Amino acid sequence: MRWPDVGFAIWHEGKLVEQWRAAGSMSDEALARRLGDVLGDAFVQNSVTVEHWSGAVHVTGRAGIPDAARSRPDHQFCYVNGRFVRDKVLTHASRSAYEDVLHGHKQPVYALYVEIDPARVDVNVHPTKIEVRFRDSREVHQAVRHAIENALAAPRAAAAAAAAAEEAARTPELAPAAPATAPKVAAPAWPQARMSFGDEQGGHKVSNMAGLWAPMREAAPAPVALPAQTAMQAAGAAEVAVDTPGVQWPAGDVPASYAPAAQPQPAAVSEPSPANFTPPAADTPAAAEETIWPLGRAVAQIHGVYILAENAQGMVVVDMHAAHERIVYEQLKNAVNAAEQIPSQPLLIPATFAATPEEVATAEAHGDTLQALGMEVSPFSPKTLAVRAVPATLAQGDAVELARSVLAELAQHDASTVVQRARNEILATMACHGAVRANRRLTLDEMNALLRQMEVTERSDQCNHGRPTWRQMSMKELDALFLRGR
Ligand SMILES: [Zn+2]
Repeated sequence: MRWPDVGFAIWHEGKLVEQWRAAGSMSDEALARRLGDVLGDAFVQNSVTVEHWSGAVHVTGRAGIPDAARSRPDHQFCYVNGRFVRDKVLTHASRSAYEDVLHGHKQPVYALYVEIDPARVDVNVHPTKIEVRFRDSREVHQAVRHAIENALAAPRAAAAAAAAAEEAARTPELAPAAPATAPKVAAPAWPQARMSFGDEQGGHKVSNMAGLWAPMREAAPAPVALPAQTAMQAAGAAEVAVDTPGVQWPAGDVPASYAPAAQPQPAAVSEPSPANFTPPAADTPAAAEETIWPLGRAVAQIHGVYILAENAQGMVVVDMHAAHERIVYEQLKNAVNAAEQIPSQPLLIPATFAATPEEVATAEAHGDTLQALGMEVSPFSPKTLAVRAVPATLAQGDAVELARSVLAELAQHDASTVVQRARNEILATMACHGAVRANRRLTLDEMNALLRQMEVTERSDQCNHGRPTWRQMSMKELDALFLRGR
């Protein structure tokens, strides 16, 4: 797995049992070929490229997406300067990189290649050289953790759409139902994906993408926004995808349908109207543009729980609460990271509630922490607490319910040390409260706004609990369900 340029053939009792052809010198493609041969194609399909420099440590390889996690840690491979090792520092770093996207006892899969100055690693601590000792294990831990975190952070819908479009272009008979538009879709989808998610090495560099969602945070719909307001925001979201100043289209790579001048119906984008959501004829520019949205165009809400959308590949189903919860969670984390304090919004009329003695004690002991979380909860009377401010992002939610669950969370932690992990747990609880609830009817505009946000929000492919937020069902899969084309 470290030497894709070397071919291997394994004979057992005179029979050739395994043969891995040389795939060329170490590169993304060669490595993917070799890992596919050894671990199976599913490993490659369900993993993303890792490519990260941290000081003098270079980490490459592939990290499995959370969906690919296994019950046993049997697909975890680490190489240091070309040699296979088992190392606690590397294992722990990898595990912690998955903390925010993979919960429970699932084991991530990965193949990682760490290159480091030989002077900074002792390879002679074990007779079979399967263990190493790093001179500075923190340096290596951080490098590996960040390498995997960055690789997993980028939302994957666009890359999946691009891969599907490429596949469709290669095999025209597999193209989606509207063959007339398929080539048009395939062409613009590539530059988009390359712009957002690829770099020269094919790695996912989060820092390069900051501009993509920086404006998005402002355009974020409030958790339970009024329809009129959200329609505006939906328009804003659509515009972000079209011509946000923060998004730098590479000059030569602007997809034709994104260029305002080449767009015969600008109104269709800037002012969503009912007409915008009637199924357009397959070959209108509007259709071509919508199919570029990786998560597609919302068509319906199912039982108040799922959003059904149509994209170029087929059908997308989104768990709306799980998806929105992740978006709010990432917004809260960004707010804390940026300002050490979540923007707070005072309530015109404080929300009071009958509190237990524990809740009153917790509110008093954790005043500073509550403030950092954008909340103000103080005693109103000996047995009553008043919520005087809530995070601006969650202003539309139930202030009392939010305060209660945050106090319950805080009660479990030491007042002085709300460390990163506990902090993230609290933010996740807050996000759950701020996220759109099941059975809330969404308009198509609201659904589309949510889909557009998912496309640009880090880690939005999993909810805060590590479950998937969306699933793709391709036309091929749908056709198979109905025994079409046999
Ligand atoms: Zn929730």
